[in-house]
Amino acid sequence: EEEVTWKDYDKSKLYTADLESALHYLLRVELATHQTLEGEKLKTFKDFVTLLYKLFPGRPHVVKLLETLQEWLVSMPLDKIPYDAILDLVNNKMRISGIYLTNHVEWVGCQGSRAQLRGYPCSLWKLFHSLTVQAAAQPNALANTEFEGDALATLKTMRGYIREFFGCRECAQHFEAMAKESMDSVKTADEAVLWLWRKHNLVNKRLAGAPSEDPESPKVEWPTPELCSACHEEINGLHNWNEKEVLVFLKRHYGAQEISLKYAD
Ligand code: FAD
Repeated sequence: EEEVTWKDYDKSKLYTADLESALHYLLRVELATHQTLEGEKLKTFKDFVTLLYKLFPGRPHVVKLLETLQEWLVSMPLDKIPYDAILDLVNNKMRISGIYLTNHVEWVGCQGSRAQLRGYPCSLWKLFHSLTVQAAAQPNALANTEFEGDALATLKTMRGYIREFFGCRECAQHFEAMAKESMDSVKTADEAVLWLWRKHNLVNKRLAGAPSEDPESPKVEWPTPELCSACHEEINGLHNWNEKEVLVFLKRHYGAQEISLKYAD
């Protein structure tokens, strides 16, 4: 078994290293299992890159790479794009030009106590939570894109990405079922933030005690009272979420202002 060097981190924080590692893994590992992108896959990938370039709460050298990728995808008249061409674009940008993406994973808040635990799926959740929060925090960010005025932009794009590309097929089926059931009831960007939070907690509940659970990061309803006591209330002796407080908490936790650069290279 691969040895894990533990990095100390703060569970109340979001780390740039996790979000950038998610992008690296997504673009250079997950996408690499597809030789060419066409049809629904190509459309889904283009939408996702558009959303990322507008909303990714990252450092300028990464946002510039996403912008370059987006412009290139839009300018391509082809209805079929070989994956290698995407990889070339992602790789051939140099630090010198100030446009690049880290080329390895560096899990911090997503590190597992054993090598095969956590990592990418954890970072994908964090990426999508932060995109829903960015969309709510900057209502005009998607102006002049096909997503303008669409409160469901981030959730629909996430749904498409998970359906077309997420390597865990069982996860994709579960997520699609949840999306089909209630995603359309979301009417505002704030509701989108809360919808994803609620569904993630359902997944946590289902997976508690499963072999994929890292004992160092038990699957619990989140945020715990230690992270947000105001999020929890008791009504007639029963636990109740104060969703107004949950929204405030999510917007802070996943907001761009408080992301930690520790361990980001
Ligand atoms: P994760 O659940 O990955 O959470 C990552 C971090 O997000 C947590 O550490 C916490 O900081 C934060 N967080 C936790 N809960 C919430 C919440 N409610 N709202 C906002 N932030 C939160 N695995 C399966 O075995 N079966 C499945 O069906 C399955 N479906 C999945 C569907 C999707 C869309 C994704 C992205 C992953 C799925 N997975 C599934 C993987 C699984 O959910 C975990 O990602 C994985 O087991 C790693 O768990 P983790 O301990 O890192 O915590």
